[in-house]
Amino acid sequence: MDQKSMRGLVKDTMGPGELVYRDDLPIPEIGDDDVLIKIHCTAICGTDLHIIDWDEWTQKRVKKPVVTGHETAGDIVAVGKNVKNRRVGDRVSCESHVPCGSCFFCKNGMPHICKNVELFGITQDGAFAEYAKIRSDCTFLIPDGLPYEAGCLFEPMGAGVHGAEVANVKGKSVLVSGCGPIGLAAISACKQFGASTLIVCARTDSKLEVAKEMGADIIFNTNKVDLVHKIMELTDGIGVDVAIDVSGSGDAIHTALQCLRAGGDFVGVGLPTKPVTFDLANEILYREIHFTGISGRLIWRTWDDFAEVMNGPYFDYRKVLGGKFAIEDYKEAFARSRSGAPGKNLIYPDSFLT
Ligand SMILES: [Zn+2]
Ligand SMILES: [Zn+2]
Repeated sequence: MDQKSMRGLVKDTMGPGELVYRDDLPIPEIGDDDVLIKIHCTAICGTDLHIIDWDEWTQKRVKKPVVTGHETAGDIVAVGKNVKNRRVGDRVSCESHVPCGSCFFCKNGMPHICKNVELFGITQDGAFAEYAKIRSDCTFLIPDGLPYEAGCLFEPMGAGVHGAEVANVKGKSVLVSGCGPIGLAAISACKQFGASTLIVCARTDSKLEVAKEMGADIIFNTNKVDLVHKIMELTDGIGVDVAIDVSGSGDAIHTALQCLRAGGDFVGVGLPTKPVTFDLANEILYREIHFTGISGRLIWRTWDDFAEVMNGPYFDYRKVLGGKFAIEDYKEAFARSRSGAPGKNLIYPDSFLT
């Protein structure tokens, strides 16, 4: 390759502080098991904002200056000599959990919760840059017909699909609390996987309208109605079979447990920012609630299922996108993400922005 340096966004202070734009970064050198990706676009994640703010989670993980960005899509332009599963020209997205391959979890079919996991764009250089390298077994082929912009969404929104997968929603009544981008993925997945009645609650009417377009049968604004009362009316006083929380709000989680029938499945996808306490005996044990946590995506079942959801009748990636920004305008892009304006904002490190 003639090009010697590249543009990218670096977290270079081990403390609170904005990302720094650089145009003199070295192009990553790939190892034998890696691929080099020419990045088309990369979405901004809440985690990127946490890295800037240097919260507790970030402090434990980011140990050196790092190119950030992990929700990405692009083209493979070089492959290491051991790489058999990918070739130059493949369009790929990346699994941000880079598993070790040798711990108990990796050896027992749970690489997504690997004990020694490395994180693309967090503990190792990521994709707010013209080029990124990653181990080839952490790449996913973007199905034909889906644009790069949709490819960026597999990683961030896959947790919602994973929630729908573990809840076995076919033929069941389901409550989804929260309908940001991850919630919308959960909603479309639940509907496509055969939920009999899909109820969605949130606090914003405009978001609930999108939820309806993406597969919700019934929507409730919890600022306006007594949700538990409404759910009991709909279910003959029994409660829903499955509750999936994507909001991460302690209040919403307690309310969802009240809406759930005894013996039902609670699935937690949204991450609370502080500890949530439970009345374990009364809320969970006496009622035989099955309580399941979600971390990331199943590798690669969630990705394959999400590809089907993306191609299905409910999910529309265009409704999840926010603004598109050239990398030089990254400050504006991050300000939009921070403002809470709806939609995932995309950064284009090269001239693919149209
Ligand atoms: Zn993310
Ligand atoms: Zn492992």
